[in-house]
Amino acid sequence: RRQIRNVCCIGAGYVGGPTAAMIALHNPHIRVTVVDRDEKRIRAWNSRHLPIHEPGLSDVVRAARDGLRPGVDGTGHFDASIEETTTRAPNLFFSTACAETIAEADVVMISVNTPTKRQGQGAGRATDMTAFEGATRDVATHSRRGCIIVEKSTVPCKTGQLIKNITQQHRPELDFPILSNPEFLSEGTAIKDLMRPDRVIIGCESTPSGIAAAEALADLYASWVPQERIVTNNIWSAELCKLTANAMLAQRISSINSISAICERTGADVGEIAKSIGLDRRIGPQFLKAGLGFGGSCFRKDIASLTYLAESLGLPEVAAYWEQVLTMNNYQRDRFALNVIAKLNNSLRGKKITILGYAFKKDTGDARESPALDVIRMLLEEGPKSIAIFDPLCSEADIRYELSALPAADAQDVVKVCADPYEACEDSSAVLVLTDWDMFKMQPRSAPVKAQPVDSPVIASFSPSTPADLLHLPQRSKEKPPTIVKDTVAVGTLPEEIIARLQPQADCETGCEE
Ligand code: NAD
Repeated sequence: RRQIRNVCCIGAGYVGGPTAAMIALHNPHIRVTVVDRDEKRIRAWNSRHLPIHEPGLSDVVRAARDGLRPGVDGTGHFDASIEETTTRAPNLFFSTACAETIAEADVVMISVNTPTKRQGQGAGRATDMTAFEGATRDVATHSRRGCIIVEKSTVPCKTGQLIKNITQQHRPELDFPILSNPEFLSEGTAIKDLMRPDRVIIGCESTPSGIAAAEALADLYASWVPQERIVTNNIWSAELCKLTANAMLAQRISSINSISAICERTGADVGEIAKSIGLDRRIGPQFLKAGLGFGGSCFRKDIASLTYLAESLGLPEVAAYWEQVLTMNNYQRDRFALNVIAKLNNSLRGKKITILGYAFKKDTGDARESPALDVIRMLLEEGPKSIAIFDPLCSEADIRYELSALPAADAQDVVKVCADPYEACEDSSAVLVLTDWDMFKMQPRSAPVKAQPVDSPVIASFSPSTPADLLHLPQRSKEKPPTIVKDTVAVGTLPEEIIARLQPQADCETGCEE
């Protein structure tokens, strides 16, 4: 068995940081160093304020980076609620010294960003491999003999060959084992997903050195992942299974969203349909929530990459099949925005619109690829007086960065990012709840919030509502109850007596998912 002592992870992002921290936590005898060119990000990883928000992440990082022994439950699993006791030697490091760290590593995991290409051949669909190629070149230049190179980033099928070509250009005398080890974590639940993954996929070449490398990587995971969940594939299958998994998950969302459009025309209830079909064990209940469609940095780009791959392989029918998942996703957002505009008498002039929740899903501060941006783009075309956004985690800087991609020249002036949900809702004509943050939901068993009367806001919610989903904001104080909540939305799925209590224009449905 190959002994691994030093792991280097290139890319201190949503995947690299948490994954490296988890490997370090469960392998105290191994030194894990995460490197990134972005000094600010590395400074944050070395501070008390980590650059990304994930429930449970800071406990894991404090344990591995600062040497605090974590509480561990009876089965050996880390449990944040169990008191930390003695210290352990720190074995997780964050650094900008890329070359030096690569030079010492037995394993280098490449976890850099692989966004969609913005220009040139395949723009809008093909994967932009600039960062991945750059990182691979660094590895090819600085790594030592026998270093295992692991693709952790999501990449097109056959990227292993690209790594091989680059390493052979730089170090023709050496043969580096190359593995594909795609990451399946979801933002918002990254630590939970990493702690108990459904599976760990390791793709390798079927050569003795490839198989030995796969076994060495499997040993790292076997410290906390049951053996039967660590699956070895050929390298091309491992690469392609990540794109396939994301395409299938996104397809479920587009499928149920297509049915939601039929429901709105017929009076059928998409929530009931999702529940009914989800009870079929062959279908299952996950990813069947109708809403604004999927967002986030992965689904759209990975399906685009899949369609581009299919087309490059001379398979236009396959490309067109998956393309439709994206078409349906865009259609759903457009429908939502048009619905809101229609309910406001087809004019937003002089009106303030509030958006509660910017992140593409709850429990993440990641502002990338949010469905909210598409909604804002359409609302801006109607010339509203202002659009106020409140999100509990997304920073104003990140939201403003995303807004800079909008065509409207005055987007930055019209949009206000508020630190307070009540301020965001003040004098608003419509309140759109675009992220399923718990703070916007009625808490179970708490009494419905009685709101002060306000001027008939349209409240469009992230999911077809039931009375139990009535919009709820935490009360600031007893003296100042929320000013926006009236009754709420999703006409077509609510009982008649509730619909009757709504303002005539309060008639929006749909929502956001993933
Ligand atoms: P990210 O943008 O958050 O982080 C990538 C980091 O890599 C950045 O900090 C960047 O500065 C750094 N980087 C780029 N080139 C570098 C180089 N040559 N040397 C050193 N650092 C470099 O990206 P992410 O969200 O962590 O995603 C990483 C990969 O994982 C992508 O391929 C993505 O598709 C995949 N993935 C992401 C998720 C997710 O939920 N975010 C889930 C599964 C897989």
